[in-house]
Amino acid sequence: MALNVDLRTFLDEQGHVVELTEQAEMVFLFLVSIISAVSEKHLDVDELMQVDLACNTRAHHLSCSGNIEAGGSKNGTIEWQCDTCEAAGIISHWQATNWDKQRRVFH
Ligand SMILES: [Zn+2]
Repeated sequence: MALNVDLRTFLDEQGHVVELTEQAEMVFLFLVSIISAVSEKHLDVDELMQVDLACNTRAHHLSCSGNIEAGGSKNGTIEWQCDTCEAAGIISHWQATNWDKQRRVFH
């Protein structure tokens, strides 16, 4: 089952990170690493890239030594999955946050 996260859960109205528990902060840092990596590339929809991120950085108790791969989807969410275990998730409402590295195109 995919973990579906709305990034706004972690942010206040100004886009600043709210006070997080240690566990929530680990998850948050994990998610924003994925957002930065994916938004920097120009991936096709459903194309996955390797993110330089280990699966076990999501929480202290994890022993999975897999790595994360992620990509964008048609509806603008970022989907990620571990290349080794069943872990997977969907991140929504990440656009225009501090971790969105998409180049703005001005006409
Ligand atoms: Zn894993």
